[in-house]
Amino acid sequence: PSVLSDRINAMQESQTIAMAKKARELAAQGLDVINLSFGEPDFQTPQYIKDAAKKALDEGFTFYTPVPGYLDLRQAICDKLQRDNQLDYKPENIVVSTGAKQSLANVVMSMVNPGDEVIVFAPYWVSYEEMVKLAEGTPVPLMGSLENDFKVTAAELEAAITPRTKLIMYSSPCNPTGSVFSREELADIAEVVARHPQVHVLADEIYEYINFVGEHVSIAQFSDIKDRVITVNGFSKGYAMTGWRVGYLAARKEIASACEKMQSQITSGTCSVAQRGALAALQGGRTSADEMVAAYRRRRDLVLELVQDVPGFRTPTPSGAFYIFPDVTGYFGKQTPDGSTITSAAELALFILNDAHVAAVDGGAFGAPNCIRFSTAAADEKLREAFIRIKASLLKLV
Ligand code: PLP
Repeated sequence: PSVLSDRINAMQESQTIAMAKKARELAAQGLDVINLSFGEPDFQTPQYIKDAAKKALDEGFTFYTPVPGYLDLRQAICDKLQRDNQLDYKPENIVVSTGAKQSLANVVMSMVNPGDEVIVFAPYWVSYEEMVKLAEGTPVPLMGSLENDFKVTAAELEAAITPRTKLIMYSSPCNPTGSVFSREELADIAEVVARHPQVHVLADEIYEYINFVGEHVSIAQFSDIKDRVITVNGFSKGYAMTGWRVGYLAARKEIASACEKMQSQITSGTCSVAQRGALAALQGGRTSADEMVAAYRRRRDLVLELVQDVPGFRTPTPSGAFYIFPDVTGYFGKQTPDGSTITSAAELALFILNDAHVAAVDGGAFGAPNCIRFSTAAADEKLREAFIRIKASLLKLV
């Protein structure tokens, strides 16, 4: 018998991290690997945020922090939710965590019982399914169609809901597809949720600011279901603060308090200095984010132009985030120069890594085994070079 728990033995290693590891191995052999597997901004955290964190250290912010986060940070988060999302919350509704990832885990662990079904809109972010399994819930992936930019419709949701459905989880803007739900689409989804009083919604809005269509809609804005919505957001993507580990959730008090209790027994309040940086980030508004978004948009346009030249990729136009997510089934059944046959996106991603030295993540990790995710958060020259190489490699498949 294993010394390890069934829980950990049943858990998948994060495949985005596994691919990054493989890319590093090739790079260590001296190969020029272009890594498009990361879900991380390639920008530095803006200077004013770094300055605030340095100042916090000098001012003595070195003690344990309140479990749900500093009160002034929670108030600033309420102000942000009011300003950007027209959502009315008090600090008691906010729990600041060690990244949005912990906020999501807090919610799932605090709400899901064994046997509860959690509808996860697919393609989904890698960790959703594993979190649900950890809570002994049943993940129910619900796939959006390529024709609808991978977005699940209200009718599809209605058909998937059962009396055991407890929670619905999605991200918008979406990692990995870059899709953004419109107001109308979310209104229709909210209407379905309203008809099923046992159903709650976990809305992951971590890519909120990285949006090329303009309007970001929070499903909590639909007032008849607001009490059943938990909104998660954070600083990693919009403010290029991945390493700082600050995220948060907003929910009705009963749920926020439960998440605070969960966090109090596992990690306590998140890092003091990082929270002071997060407060400064919010006080600085959206200007720095908007500058980065201009670059993300330019790169998205560049990559879309480059993939037009790659035959056999079917790529919806991403409306947000920093990924493209082509369907690559056009290559299934083709042969590589060494005579093996490509039967999956995972094999194609591996061929691209070995032949073009470009690292990407196969869609299986996101519940979409026909697709590959390429990050567009890289310098323009790197993106250009990557897709020139990919095209040349794919031409070798017959
Ligand atoms: N949600 C989605 C959809 C993500 O892509 C990520 C990061 O990759 C996270 C949450 C986690 O964000 P954080 O760094 O705040 O934990």
